[in-house]
Parts: sequence; C-alpha cells; structure tokens
Amino acid sequence: MLDASLNDEVAWNDFLRENRRRVEVDLAEVERVIDLARRTPGLSAYDEGLQQLSIFFQVATRWYRDNAPDELPDLVDFWERYRAAVIQRFTGITTVELRAADKVVADIFTRFLQAVPNERIAYSKDATPLVYGGEGGLGGYFTHPPGLNRPFAIINLPHAAFDNVWQWLALPHETGHDIYATVEGLQTEVEEALAQRMQQAVADGEVEIPTVDVPLNTPWGAYTVQYEPEELLATIWRSWANECQADIIGVLNCGGAALAALQQIIGFEALDQWLIRPGADGAITDAPEEHPTSYVRNAFNISALRLIGQIAMADQLEARFAALRPEADSIVWFAAPSLPLVEIPTDAMIQSAEIAADVLVNQAFVSLGNQSYGDVAGFADEDQALVEAMVPRLVGGDPTFAQEPGSTARHALAATILALESDRNAGDVINRTFRHFV
Ligand SMILES: [Zn+2]
Repeated sequence: MLDASLNDEVAWNDFLRENRRRVEVDLAEVERVIDLARRTPGLSAYDEGLQQLSIFFQVATRWYRDNAPDELPDLVDFWERYRAAVIQRFTGITTVELRAADKVVADIFTRFLQAVPNERIAYSKDATPLVYGGEGGLGGYFTHPPGLNRPFAIINLPHAAFDNVWQWLALPHETGHDIYATVEGLQTEVEEALAQRMQQAVADGEVEIPTVDVPLNTPWGAYTVQYEPEELLATIWRSWANECQADIIGVLNCGGAALAALQQIIGFEALDQWLIRPGADGAITDAPEEHPTSYVRNAFNISALRLIGQIAMADQLEARFAALRPEADSIVWFAAPSLPLVEIPTDAMIQSAEIAADVLVNQAFVSLGNQSYGDVAGFADEDQALVEAMVPRLVGGDPTFAQEPGSTARHALAATILALESDRNAGDVINRTFRHFV
C-alpha cells in the first residue's frame, strides 16, 4: 500500500528532504579505503595526508549532520571521488596514467602556491593534488573546490582522455580553478579588477560598446535584459573571470602549447549563450555563459602570450586563429536558438580581451601577496627552449626525454602537443613515452 498522505506537495517535499538527510559517508568504509591507500604504491607516500583525510571525513560528517544535513549528499559525492582516486591506483589498471597526471598537477599547483602567502590558502597547508579517472567525455575535466581544510585537491580527468595525452593540457587549466578557489579573496579581487578596468575602458572611449534593452517573455514571466555599455562589458568579464584566470595558469605553465591544445577543445566560434534563469527568490536573472566565447578566448590567450614575451608562439597561434575562425562582424549571445540577445562588434571584444589579458598577467593582487599572476609563475624563453628540446626525443620514444636539466612535468606536458604537430603519425609513441617516463 502506498502512503496516501504523501499525495500532497508539502508532505512529498518533506519526505524527499528527509530521505536526502539519511545519506551519509560510511566512516568504516573511509577507514578501509584509507588503509588500502597506505598499501598502494603512489599513495603510500602521503601517509600524513591520509591520516588527515580520515580525520576530515569524521569531522565533516559530524559537522554536516549537525549543521547542514541537506548538504550531506554533497559530502558523499566528494567521498566517492576520493575512493575512486584510491581504488583506481590500488587496482593498478590505470596506475601509469594517474601517476603521470599527478606529477603534472602537483608541479603546477605547488609551483604557484609556494609563492603565495600561506594564511590565504583554503586547503590545508601542503595539500596534495590527486587526479582520478572520472566521468565525462573528452571535455569532462573539472575540479572539486576546497573547503573545511581538505588535505587533498581532487581533479577529474575523464577516462576518455587517457589515450589522448595532449588533451591533458586541460590539467593546467583545471589546476587553475583549484588555485582560484584555494587562495582566499582571489576570486573577489580578480572579478572586481576586471569589472572596474572594463568600466573605465568604456567610460574613457577606449572600447565602444552598445546598450542592450530587450524585453522577453520567459517561462517564468516577463523580463527585460537591460544594460548600459559600461555595465555590459563589466558583467561579461566578471562572469568570465574564473575561466580566464584558469587559462592564464595554463599559459604561465606551458606557454603556447596550452593554447594550441585549447584550440582543439574549444574551436573558434563567435556565437555564445546568454542564460536567463529564475533565481532562488523567484526573481529572474541573466548572465553570459561563464566560459569566454571561443573567438574572444583565442584573442585573450594570444594577448597573454605576447605580454609574457612568447611572441613566436603567439604569432603561430594567431595565424591558426586567423585561418580557422568564422567571418564575424560581431560576437552574438543567444537567449534561445533563434533569439539573439546581446551583440557586440568583434573588434571591440578583441580590444577588451587585450585589456583583460593585461589585468590577469600584470595586475598585482593583495591575495597573491601583492604579486600579479605573471610575478608568481612566469614562462620564459628558457622554458620554451626546454619544451622544444623534448619534442624530437618524445617523437623518437626516448625514455630519458623528461630528464632535461631544469625541466619539470609541465614542460614535458607542453612538449606532447608540439610533438604531435611535428609528427602526427607518432601519436602512440608520444603517449606511451610521456605516460611512462614523465
Ligand atoms: Zn574551466
């Protein structure tokens, strides 16, 4: 017999909420998995972190149960990823791939955070980044934000990408998201810096931006999308802040190779989405899609490469951009497939991308210890030379390719995509050599 008292919206929703609260992290399982981790090559070195992890789940489980029972399923979700990171290594099926990915991510994460004052780090001090093979197709890279003093930063590398090692150049970008969430106050500062600089650029006549005033009939009622030029450009770049800074982490660690790989993933499109959504309080909100429009994102990354002095790579990537991008007088954001909403001349958006690149490479932020991204982690001609020296050795399957003095995992990763471009028939050799010998 079904319970007829549930045939009532309030009772039904209470029932669903109560069921969600019953979900918990099984602490006995946490102990078993951490015990496995201690006996797993590649993880046993993190004994202290594993000890902290066990404490983290005990404390967090109790905290969520007492303070935010509705959010317990998120903690369980998070536990699933840790478990995957451990068990995948223990079974040994993808050990080589995960070890290689761990090396890349740790190199970038540590390099950046070592230069940032410790008290601003939201993960526990000396947090270790770990990669696990997860869901999603080739684009399914994502990272789990820090919080509650987590001893490991966890990054999802889609299983689909394991055989396509140059797609791993998404890892520096994902590590960038981790860094952004890790350094307290950075998000607010970067968003504000971009917004203010864009408002100023429009006010000074440096960039010409139209107004927007479009009344809409949405599924949630009538709503008008309305922006003055200054606020429009500021809103767009504020929304793009996180993705932009993640791209900068890519460029500062791998140079032009980061964009060469990104172009494969995002393309060059000038069309985008503007999202109209109901807010929590029932009010309707609107915002551009949070990834910069591919066309503009190319221009942004090319500008950043020029600013850090990677001129030769910037020129080659710009030539590719010029050859493959669509004819587009404007960047157009759609609210629905046949409903263009915001339209800004391409030239103006490219100018704004150059300004944004300058903010992200050169502007000092208090949360980075009064340093700019470019101060914290540079990519110089010597770095590019190290990368290029590895290219023929990767193509030739040389197991010592990554032993160039002064090089680290990020150089080896950057070399993979240049190696593939130098010999597209050598894909398998490049993959194998990188994964086993990075
Ligand atoms: Zn991203």
